[in-house]
Formats: sequence, C-alpha cells, structure tokens
Amino acid sequence: MGIAQRYERERERVDEVCRAAGRKPGDVLLLAVSKTVDVEGARQAFEAGARAFGENRPDELMRKAAALPDAAWHFIGNIQSRRIPDIVGASALIHSLYQEKHARKIDEAAAKLGRVQDVLIEVNVSGEASKSGVAPEDAAELVRMAVALTHVRVRGLMTMAPRGDAARARACFEGLAALQADIRAQLSADDAAVFDQLSAGMSEDWEEAVAAGSTIVRIGRAIFSEEFA
Ligand SMILES: *Cc1c(COP(=O)(O)O)cnc(C)c1O
Repeated sequence: MGIAQRYERERERVDEVCRAAGRKPGDVLLLAVSKTVDVEGARQAFEAGARAFGENRPDELMRKAAALPDAAWHFIGNIQSRRIPDIVGASALIHSLYQEKHARKIDEAAAKLGRVQDVLIEVNVSGEASKSGVAPEDAAELVRMAVALTHVRVRGLMTMAPRGDAARARACFEGLAALQADIRAQLSADDAAVFDQLSAGMSEDWEEAVAAGSTIVRIGRAIFSEEFA
C-alpha cells in the first residue's frame, strides 16, 4: 500500500467513524501531517485528494506550501518568536499557540501582511510534563487576550492526548470539548461563532477524538509511514 491508498483508507475510515458517531462526514477535516516525508510524498497524498496538510517546522512548511500552493498548510509545531513571520506567511491555521507573547507577535506579523491569522490555543489537558500547552485553568484568559487582537482570529482549541491508552485519550478529548464549550459561553456572539474548532486526534487515537467532537484530526504515520499497520 502506498501513500495514496493509505490516505484514501483513512479518509473513508474517518467518514465511517463520523457516521457511527452520528456526525456528518465532512464535518471533520483530515489534516495530513506530512512532516516525515518530502514534497513528493505530500504530492502523492494531494493527488489522492488531500487538501490540508500539517507541518511542525517552519522551513518545511514554507518549502512544501510553495510546492503545493493549492493545499491549505497548517502549522502544528513548537512556535519560536523569530520564526513567527515565516509561520504566519505560510499558515492557514496555527494549532499550537499557548503563549501571550507569541499571540502578540502573530498579531503584528499578520498586520504587516494585511491579513487575519486563524489560530487554535493548545491546551495541556492531560497535564503531562512532556506536553506543551496552556493549563486548562488558564486557557480562558489566554483566549480572551487573543480574541482582543485585531489580526488574530481564535478558532478553537487543540490538544495532544497521552499515548497508548484509549480510555485516557478519550477522557482527554472530552475534557478539551468541555473546556471549549465553557469558554465559548463566555465569548461575545461574534467571537463564539468562529470559536468552533477542536483539533484533536492523531494516527493512534483519532477515533476517540471524533467520538468526543473533534473537528480536525491530525494524521501522520497512518498515511505516510509504511510501518504503521
Ligand atoms: C506528528 C504530529 C501529529 C501526527 O502524529 P501521528 O501519530 O504520526 O499521526 C499530530 N499532531 C502533532 C502536533 C504532531 O506533531
């Protein structure tokens, strides 16, 4: 099986799991995380129908976005201040914002480009020390701060679940969905209307995430790795 077949298989499975969860297929964006392959690998997924890709390094993001400009490119990696202009220049959506100072710099960079940058706030729901993200109890304050920036549009929340345990992953995703609903209820009607995205679920746990309400699943190895069963 090649990249195209694995992409098609994942797309079909996401649609099936949506239906099983009583959700509309198409309500969940399959983000193809192409960080482990070169442009050619990403192109194979594009030709099979993938139109949204995730990258975690600014250089790769820029390179692949330039090679495949008809796809949407999302930044899912660690944000470094000095790379923010590059990230903003190439990203349809930034998934991994969790620091106030970065929110301000994204706002400045987007203003210079005359655009509004869509972002998600990354939340460390599980509390694992190895995970980045704002603590759940501090998420609402960061959302309020970022929502007030003119060139930033806060679209929702993102998280990464503990690995290897479906029940813990499910609890983590449900916690993220509950937090989103809670924060959304505190926003103005206009801000709440666009605060509708939940980026949750990777190759091993996206089924749990879809059941918990995820709107973006970030799938890497299940598409791009031959080793992934
Ligand atoms: C690499 C990565 C993914 C994809 O992980 P897989 O297990 O390969 O599906 C998703 N989200 C983030 C933030 C990543 O860094």
